[in-house]
Amino acid sequence: MQIHKVIKPAFVERFKCVGAECLISCCQGWNIFIEKKTHHRYLNADNTQISSIAKAHLRPTRKGKNHYSVITFDTQGQCPFIDENKLCSVQRELGEQALSPTCAIYPRITRRYADETRHSMTLSCPEVARLVLFDADSMMQHESEQLLANAKTNLIGQRQPVSQVSQVIHLFAWNLIQAQTHNIEENLMALAHFILYLQRIEFNLHQRFDEAQAYYHLLLTDLQTGESLLTAQPSAQSLALKVRALAVLGSLVANDASRDGYVTQGHRQVAEFLNVAELQDGAALGEKFATIDAQWLTLRQTSCLAAPHVLRNYLLYKIYHSHFPGTDVTTVMRQFYRMVLDYFYIKHLLSVKSLTEEVDQPLVLKTLASLAEKTLHSSTLDQRMNKAIDMINAGDDLSCLLLIG
Ligand code: SF4
Repeated sequence: MQIHKVIKPAFVERFKCVGAECLISCCQGWNIFIEKKTHHRYLNADNTQISSIAKAHLRPTRKGKNHYSVITFDTQGQCPFIDENKLCSVQRELGEQALSPTCAIYPRITRRYADETRHSMTLSCPEVARLVLFDADSMMQHESEQLLANAKTNLIGQRQPVSQVSQVIHLFAWNLIQAQTHNIEENLMALAHFILYLQRIEFNLHQRFDEAQAYYHLLLTDLQTGESLLTAQPSAQSLALKVRALAVLGSLVANDASRDGYVTQGHRQVAEFLNVAELQDGAALGEKFATIDAQWLTLRQTSCLAAPHVLRNYLLYKIYHSHFPGTDVTTVMRQFYRMVLDYFYIKHLLSVKSLTEEVDQPLVLKTLASLAEKTLHSSTLDQRMNKAIDMINAGDDLSCLLLIG
């Protein structure tokens, strides 16, 4: 027997699919694979509506039994099982238990380790994004314990445990982001400083834990007393890095084929606003980014992003969902870079939008869900994001500090 910890944040416990009310339904625009059992269940269903849609729209892929067929969409790019009321006809006619694992599981994600299981959900579902951002206590974690029998513990024994060092870094990172401040970017910068410190001590927390803890307390005090860690003036180097980051995100993220066009359209607006090719000099570029910074400040103070938990919950979600820093602590700065890039991109997409339209909850949720669809649902994602960062950072992951603030 073994005690196994199960962790569920509040947003996972509260989630309910909103179906027809959804801002961007998951039943459109991407590959929905059907495994062999479900494929035959649909084809042979007594309900003739389901069986005839299955005959017309399940295309065999011959990629093994888990990806036995794929649903071909109708002329509007929608799943053909969705009815005129935007409801799933499989669920309505055959019941929830008849859904394919892909449809039944989405947007849930479970990470299993030797001693714990962590439940999460993907932000590509706008309802998940709404719960995470706008429920003040969405990231509160509920822990329970399971007593597992020997057969299961044998299986679990094959899974990787989370090292103590990873767990300690995770806790420090969590607390630095959670600390109450007037500007969440100060929290991000504090975390950057802490990661740099960990690199200096070569992640040797076994022997240098007390020193690391003392440094963490120093950073926490800075955050609590309002001592700013951000650089006051953007340098020419930071402006050039921001242009490079946006160009790379445009080609590797925004242009990626997807279920919706929100990020692609938002990116086009950012490019048109900056209009870098037509700018006379660096000062003109500086003014453009100053306008974006001013818009972002206004959004953080007066829009639906203004409540202190909104952006904080977003970053806490990032830390929880990736189980930052993961199993390989030496990649911690690279993982942090990705977190900063996401934040940086959302800031620029929403700030430029706010020049022409109101940034309200639906707009924020569609932007976040669209970006998550492009950055969380791809087997080549890690490769693509690493390539993107290599193109942005010119060999120095520390450059991400120039993207904050
Ligand atoms: S994206 Fe989420 S809320 Fe929308 S239909 Fe899919 S599961 Fe339901």
